[in-house]
Amino acid sequence: MNGKWEHTHTLPPGLTRLNGQTYIVPGWTPVPSNIKLSDIVHIKEKVVEPTTHEVIGSKGDKYTVTVYPTRITCNCPAGKFRGKCRHMKEV
Ligand SMILES: [Zn+2]
Repeated sequence: MNGKWEHTHTLPPGLTRLNGQTYIVPGWTPVPSNIKLSDIVHIKEKVVEPTTHEVIGSKGDKYTVTVYPTRITCNCPAGKFRGKCRHMKEV
């Protein structure tokens, strides 16, 4: 089978063999054994840096809310133990 294989990752692709199966790494995409590195199209995934926000709590204490592409964290007690708090809504 000829054709292009798309490799969506921040790192460039490599080929490796394990138990007779060829994979594109990183990501471990199984591919036919006859493909070459030149058959792989590297779609560079963007690295999104988290952003941090300082929030002043109700008692005047300062907390840091960190926003990641897929989640949000806060270093206050509620944020740490329950995974959500009102500071997260303020950013
Ligand atoms: Zn919080």
